[in-house]
Amino acid sequence: MTNSIKKIAILFFSVVCIPFAYGQKEFYNNNKFKQLDEELPTPNVYRTGSGAPGAEYWQQKADYVIEASIDEKLHRLNGKETVTYFNNSPETLTYLWIQLDQNMRATDSDTYKIRQNKIKKGTNINQLAAIDGFPEYDGGHKIQKVTTADGQDLKYTINKTMMRIDLPTPLKSGENFAFKIDWYYNINDRLLMGGRGGYETFAEDGNTIYTITQWFPRMAVYDDFNGWQHKQFLGNGEFALTFGDYDVKITVPSDHIVASTGELQNPDDVLTATEKQRFEEAKKSDKPVVIVTQKEAEKKEKTQASDTKTWHYKAENVRDFAFGSSRKFIWDAMGVDINGKTVMAMSYYPKEANPLYGQYSTEAVAHTLEVYSKYTIDYPYPVAISVEASNGMEYPMICFNYGRPEKDGTYSPRIKYGMISVIIHEVGHNFFPMIVNSDERQWTWMDEGLNTFCQYLAEQEWEDGYPSRRGPAENIVPYMKGEKDNITPIMTNSESLKQFGNNAYGKPATALNILRETIMGRELFDYAFKEYAQRWAFKHPKPADFYRTMEDASAVDLDWFWRGWFYTTEAVDISIKNVIVKELDTQDPKAESAKQKAERDNQPKQITTIHNEEEKLVTRVEKRPELKDFYNSYDPLDPNIEDFDNYKKYQSQLNKKDKAWLASKHFVYQVDFENVGGLVMPIIIELQFEDGSSEKKYIPAEIWKMDDTVVSKVFVTEKEVTQFVLDPNRETADIDTENNYYPRKPEVSRFKLYKSGANQPRTYDSGRLNPMQKAKKNKK
Ligand SMILES: [Zn+2]
Repeated sequence: MTNSIKKIAILFFSVVCIPFAYGQKEFYNNNKFKQLDEELPTPNVYRTGSGAPGAEYWQQKADYVIEASIDEKLHRLNGKETVTYFNNSPETLTYLWIQLDQNMRATDSDTYKIRQNKIKKGTNINQLAAIDGFPEYDGGHKIQKVTTADGQDLKYTINKTMMRIDLPTPLKSGENFAFKIDWYYNINDRLLMGGRGGYETFAEDGNTIYTITQWFPRMAVYDDFNGWQHKQFLGNGEFALTFGDYDVKITVPSDHIVASTGELQNPDDVLTATEKQRFEEAKKSDKPVVIVTQKEAEKKEKTQASDTKTWHYKAENVRDFAFGSSRKFIWDAMGVDINGKTVMAMSYYPKEANPLYGQYSTEAVAHTLEVYSKYTIDYPYPVAISVEASNGMEYPMICFNYGRPEKDGTYSPRIKYGMISVIIHEVGHNFFPMIVNSDERQWTWMDEGLNTFCQYLAEQEWEDGYPSRRGPAENIVPYMKGEKDNITPIMTNSESLKQFGNNAYGKPATALNILRETIMGRELFDYAFKEYAQRWAFKHPKPADFYRTMEDASAVDLDWFWRGWFYTTEAVDISIKNVIVKELDTQDPKAESAKQKAERDNQPKQITTIHNEEEKLVTRVEKRPELKDFYNSYDPLDPNIEDFDNYKKYQSQLNKKDKAWLASKHFVYQVDFENVGGLVMPIIIELQFEDGSSEKKYIPAEIWKMDDTVVSKVFVTEKEVTQFVLDPNRETADIDTENNYYPRKPEVSRFKLYKSGANQPRTYDSGRLNPMQKAKKNKK
């Protein structure tokens, strides 16, 4: 007894030890299901292992009082601000860091220096000017004065897009410090130089739309994770910002309409009686009410006021502040009910965006607030604004989008759905990162990826068959199977991302959609995702807080999923390598003998035998039959007495149930799966039967946990399988569908023949007729 146990123990021990004892390569655990403990930061009192803010979580606060004015002649923005900075950290601070984002456009900006250039055949003068950052444009924040609240000069140092203010006395935990900055900058021509904000002048009427963004010196984030987040602003990595309250006065030409973050404090000073009355109507309306009509805006375009008006706005608990201003603005609004609270959904747009913007923009804003509130938190701000500015950029309560039809009012489906999608997307950014305030300077996916995922949900709730660009697994396949040199993992800093849109928008949005529809299921996913939004609303989450919350609230171990989808560039490609049909040995000597003989007789003949038969060769034994003995007539496959005895014994051991099972028809298939792409994923396999019916089976990804290259699975069926199909509904982003079939299926693609020299058929939306224009022509 003792001896034999010892033997087994030794044997077991030696087997287990072999992979670790031999070969250094095997020593590091590369298992795809290894927990992420080595990648994620150690939980602490600020951020817990559950992914929630910890008991001692803290964050800073910065309140702003700003007076700004637009000089329409010089395209210049002047500003004076008072910042009150609250040190809620446990530490004492001796200096503060302030962001001067406009310095990205200064002539000595690193943005232009580190940009790689190559001269292409079609390079134009603007592109040449852009190489040196438009030297004729004097960009950048001009800092005129930095003082304490009572006017004492403060020592400051500017390091490119960051400015350090040295505090006169250390700022202790729990204290606050107020300081003032006077500044101005020259607003950039947005169409010429690009940029999130700037001005656009319309050649036809000479008027301008200003979209004013990253416009005032703003506090950098100081937190438990990084200390100061003062990574320079280079252009791609967006913003890391502190929450606070804003009191902003904006002075503009008196015929301008201002669209802004926050709530208007002085409607009596800036709106007409009619405008105020229409605004009150809009609050109670379930359809957009036009507050400034196209006719009224067109009338204003003809003259330019020389006096000014000051618009006073206040916003609470926002991480930023932006506004638009123009005499071209048409303005509409309606009240949206968010769990009993009325939020004003509003749009501002030039006549060039009508009739498209007027019909859809405010509806799209309202739709976004409703759908996002369902999946995250109730929209907490009083207004949500969409401004047409031929771009796509987001700020708290306000965003700038595109959507201009042709001059005849028609538009292609690309413009229509592109516009609705960009409005949903930019309004959606209110939730990520304006409220769930992630660090955009470091991680683009944390706001763009999560937002693009919610955008997909909202698009699919807009109309049946909405042509969503990102979200469906199938749409990410071309990116996932692209050149590995041209891909970076999602967990890469914003400035080093290759294929920005696919990496930080498309791939994470698809990954979340796959989690929701395929891996976790809607119930578990939606609960966990909402939990993340609730935990981190008005706080500063990091990637680990998201990963941990999704697992903590669902009881689904997703470390393998984050590891594969977020930390690697591997793709999903599972192949049905082989299918072996297994037939049951009945052990009935008569039946089995007949089967074996048939198998033997069906073996192909050897070539020598065939040729000998053709030659009619006569063998020696045929010539001399006396050479034959017992073995010349013996067939080893004939059943013998021993076989019959064994069969009897076997039969006697079977019970009724076993016998019934044996009497019915069964098919047994061993299917070997190969992981060609590297990414471990669930195996979703459809068995199609000879009678036309089918059955879909879902095998969790953990089947790969012992071997992530080849696994086998046995399927026992009562009907014969004619076809095995992997991922029949295309839900895993498998990049090669050819190996998803067993037996393999030739892939069919269409081709057309043209007479030589004939033109290719043309499609719309390339400067040619759009479908609305074609339909009009057909009617005539
Ligand atoms: Zn975005």
